[in-house]
Amino acid sequence: MNSAQKMLSEKGKLIFIVNKFKFSFHKLLQNGQHRYKCTKRGCTANLKVLENHDIVWTSCNLEHNHDADEENKIERQIISNYLRRKATENMCERLSKLLHSYLRENNTNAITTKDVTYIKHNIFQARASLPPNLPRSSQEVYDILKDMNVKTYEESIYVDFEIAIHNTINDVWTLTKVRGCRFHLGQSWYKAIQKFGLSSEYVQNTEIGQYLTYIFGLPFLDPQSVGDCFSDELAEILPMNEKLTKFNDYLVENFTANDSTFPPEIWAEKSNIIHRTTNSCESFHSKFNSQFYSPHPNIFNFLNILFSIQSDTRIIIRSSNTTKPHRKEIRDKIKFLENEISKYDTGVHRVLGSRQSPWLAPYIALNTEMRA
Ligand SMILES: [Zn+2]
Repeated sequence: MNSAQKMLSEKGKLIFIVNKFKFSFHKLLQNGQHRYKCTKRGCTANLKVLENHDIVWTSCNLEHNHDADEENKIERQIISNYLRRKATENMCERLSKLLHSYLRENNTNAITTKDVTYIKHNIFQARASLPPNLPRSSQEVYDILKDMNVKTYEESIYVDFEIAIHNTINDVWTLTKVRGCRFHLGQSWYKAIQKFGLSSEYVQNTEIGQYLTYIFGLPFLDPQSVGDCFSDELAEILPMNEKLTKFNDYLVENFTANDSTFPPEIWAEKSNIIHRTTNSCESFHSKFNSQFYSPHPNIFNFLNILFSIQSDTRIIIRSSNTTKPHRKEIRDKIKFLENEISKYDTGVHRVLGSRQSPWLAPYIALNTEMRA
């Protein structure tokens, strides 16, 4: 009893496998049957096949003048051609994942590790030949993006306090406002407090501790008020201390002066919104990152993934009319900020953050929690 297996050739043409010999389409016969001939050149073995792919065994010639292919070679070709199609239809899927799901669903009993290497190589080649040539200059990148109609939101961008990122944004999007993440700001300042040996003072209710606490109110002022508040109001209550002077010099040089590395307009804003952080971006990044299988993905694959995320996001936005209410802890924090800001406005407090014992610690803890 003869039986035939089917596979697709590299070019997607139907191939029959009978007794480990491959047959490819040769011609249409006058009686409407399809003649398939052995793929070995010079061999006269052939199959007669009906339109519905049934084989008319009685009119086939199964006499070959050569040996059959080895079983692993045929299996390898079947898998390779099947995965080639899968992998190029779905450019972003990991190769190993495709291969494993194939092996789970199909019985294979002949392929070896050498065959797997061959299959992977074959598919990499197929994938590499697909996307257009990589751009070689930033101009080419802009041109490609323009063709693809990629839209970026460029009004303001929230980032960490890393000067390279700020410079790049200012170069590429000249009209975009760079904003600093409140969480990272607090983190930088707290690291500086530790560096200058003030952390034990900070958690105690000493004069120095109080002064440091006030400092963390600065990000909640108007950018224009930061300089005055820092050099007038805060200077009046500045305790004499060498470490504190060093910390203050650090603040002036990096943050509070208008010509500092990160001037107040980047990080100060009179608002109680707690979303002035890069938290949501970082959670996005970790999901985004998990979509890639190489550290330097092809720019076109990269964009494909962005587009698929974009369409997912559209659906989510469309289906969410109500936003989840904040947890009580977060509502309290917002309320606290609101109160402190209005007290500052009406002159009840001269400086934000007073009466609040070390303010940053719970803030950092909250952010760390929201990030998880
Ligand atoms: Zn043959």
